[in-house]
Formats: sequence, structure tokens, C-alpha cells
Amino acid sequence: MSDCIFCMIAKGEIPSNTIFENDNFRVILDNGPATKGHALVLPKNHYADLFEIPEDVVAEAAKVAKTVAGKMKEKLGCDGLNLVQNNGAIAGQTVMHFHLHIIPRYEDDGQRILWKPSSPSAEELVEIKNQIVG
Ligand code: AMP
Ligand code: ZN
Repeated sequence: MSDCIFCMIAKGEIPSNTIFENDNFRVILDNGPATKGHALVLPKNHYADLFEIPEDVVAEAAKVAKTVAGKMKEKLGCDGLNLVQNNGAIAGQTVMHFHLHIIPRYEDDGQRILWKPSSPSAEELVEIKNQIVG
């Protein structure tokens, strides 16, 4: 995808603050970070989202995230960490090249990565389960 900004960043065609790189991935600092160290795991090949990315590539993305998460803990001293991965505009995806957010969390960082819980009945939950597995 020649006009995809994350393709260009992942392939090193435009500069980024790279904190990890291997043959298949580049991990960069997000330029609009939620917290100190907020990073993005970018595959070097273009996949729009979780639906498109092959299983083995997403599995490697998880391994890369674990490596970087360890660094965040060791070097930045974060107190916790969120992995976030948005798919589709409705889910908040703004760049249509698969990416996994690594968001280190700190006491009093003022961020909220939450949702509003609902209260389905037991029957409704069973119905949804059946819809998914049926
Ligand atoms: P999402 O909303 O999940 O698609 O996340 C896109 C993320 O990419 C946002 O957190 C942006 O701040 C970040 N972002 C967009 N363009 C760049 C860029 N050129 N360099 C670094 N981060 C970027
Ligand atoms: Zn791309």
C-alpha cells in the first residue's frame, strides 16, 4: 500500500522513534501518546486489521509486544500496561494498517481505558453464547 503511512514508517521510508525492530515488525513511539512510552507494534507488511492479518503474524505481534512490555517495565518503571488493538472506525481505528498499542500505565496517569458495563440477563448471555458458538 504505497499511500499507507504505517507501511512507510514500518519499512523505514519515513523516520520514526523506533524502539524495536526485526524482519517482520517495527515498534515505534506513538506521536500522540496516552502515557509516557505509548508504542505501536507495526507489521512491515500491510494488513488492514485483525480480520486480514494471518494467524502466524498476529502471534508474532503478541511475542513482540511481550518483549517490549518487559522493556517498559524495566526501563520506564511502569506500574501496569494495557494492550489495545482497534479494528474498524466504529472501534476507534483511525489508521487502517494493523497495529497493536502498548500503553504503559502509571499511578495517577489520569488515563481511562474503560467501557461502560451493561447488565444482560443470564438468558441473554446464553443466547449470545449460542449465537457465537452455534
Ligand atoms: P488507532 O486509533 O488505533 O488507529 O491508533 C492510531 C494511532 O497512531 C494513534 O494513537 C496516533 O496517535 C498514532 N499515529 C498516527 N500517525 C502517527 C505517526 N505518524 N507516528 C506515530 N504515531 C502515529
Ligand atoms: Zn500499510
